[in-house]
Amino acid sequence: MRNIDRIYIDGAFVTPHGNRCLDLFNPATEAKIGTVRLGDAEDLRIAVAAAKRAFPAMARTSKAERIAMLHRLRDAVKAGSADLVAAMTEEYGAPAYFIAFSVQNTASVFEVMAASVESYAFERTAGSSAVTMLPLGVVGAITPWNSNFGFIATKLAHAIGSGSTIVIKPAEQSAIQTQVLLECLHEAGLPRGVLNVVNGTGPEVGAALTAHPDVALITFTGSTPAARIIQRSALDTMKRLVLELGGKSPTIVLDDADLDAAVPVALMSGFANSGQACVAGSRILVPRSREAEITARLKLEAERLRVGAPADPEVRIGPLANAAHWERVQSYIRLGQEEGATLLTGGEGRPQGLDKGWFAKPTIFTDVTNTMRIAREEIFGPVLSVIAYDDEDDAVAIANDSDFGLQAYVLSSDEDRAIRVARHLVAGRVVINGAPHDPHAPFGGFRRSGLGREIGAYGLDAFLEPRAILKPAR
Ligand code: ADP
Repeated sequence: MRNIDRIYIDGAFVTPHGNRCLDLFNPATEAKIGTVRLGDAEDLRIAVAAAKRAFPAMARTSKAERIAMLHRLRDAVKAGSADLVAAMTEEYGAPAYFIAFSVQNTASVFEVMAASVESYAFERTAGSSAVTMLPLGVVGAITPWNSNFGFIATKLAHAIGSGSTIVIKPAEQSAIQTQVLLECLHEAGLPRGVLNVVNGTGPEVGAALTAHPDVALITFTGSTPAARIIQRSALDTMKRLVLELGGKSPTIVLDDADLDAAVPVALMSGFANSGQACVAGSRILVPRSREAEITARLKLEAERLRVGAPADPEVRIGPLANAAHWERVQSYIRLGQEEGATLLTGGEGRPQGLDKGWFAKPTIFTDVTNTMRIAREEIFGPVLSVIAYDDEDDAVAIANDSDFGLQAYVLSSDEDRAIRVARHLVAGRVVINGAPHDPHAPFGGFRRSGLGREIGAYGLDAFLEPRAILKPAR
């Protein structure tokens, strides 16, 4: 049992003013594993005040000082990797391969930002004017539970890289992971007040952050409905916004695809992070001419994927994060059947042999049309829809016919052809033939997938604003 009863303000772990407690669970066993004492709006105000005090000195730091801080953060995460893996395993329960990637990626986020700061032009000229890219002030970050370490690290890295200070409101159900990560980050010895973290609920601490007049920018990762509330709240004080939201990403299997390579990639893009990924390729678009062959292969290979707890290294799909989310995913599996789609594999209930834990059956629907709700709404679980297309133009039209535009995948035996198709897609990232994660590529989406981009110079641009100094002609 871990009882998380501290928040992080002004360089120290402190007891929050808020005193409401929330239980924490292991999603693979449903066992209660701890509690978190939640902060409240008063704690948030104290955190913002600390960040505000720290801002002037942080804004004046040189490139070299920011890079040194980022390197120390990277090293601190690397040094704490084993503890991070243990916390994520217990509190999130994802497959071991995914946890290993997440922890390594958390360190890499700081490394990549350090390189981005190195090459970023903070001082520029425009005409005869001198332009300086300046940090905005205190940044407020709100993060979700599906990749707690990575999102906290990304938002902190952008704050440091831009010379801002930050107050983070993480997902309250990930409090053990947040605490272990903070214990690592504390070792990096950032100046007091640069990093502040307040556990609490969205409607209380999150809302206080988005409304706070001393917060200049909100960087949010989460659902589109929460983003709408945040956007409205940010309006009064004209806050800048970076929003990384949902997706309903298409995976286009072109008619020349080699199924030995394409089917496993399509499945793992869809079932990534047990389907709890904004980038999940949850619509698989297949050529009608090969539909029967591809769906047969999808069924065969999906049924081979092992579902279970992270202790088994062969597991590819873990539990859903909590009971309410499990119920929500089940309701979509029911909805797909009501809408007239055909269950190719999976369905309602738990997989055989898993009586405890919030495990859902990896589910694939065929005979899906792009107008069905299961093809339009983000399910955030291991539920995929197969949609048939007539030709390449039709595939592109279906792929782009979505409220979202976060990510897309193209699979073909001909890479140039896949890239040609990619150029027609409305998506923040298009992944060709299962290309590995590129930590330098901009991340974010079109349409209701968000606003702005994270990572590299694109991410820094969103955290900075130009000041031009105009001089009289000599
Ligand atoms: P999820 O279903 O992944 O939890 P949410 O978008 O609801 O997605 O949550 C993502 C983050 O946003 C969490 O930290 C949550 O507490 C926070 N959040 C939820 N509602 C609000 C709100 N009204 N204002 C600010 N933050 C919120």
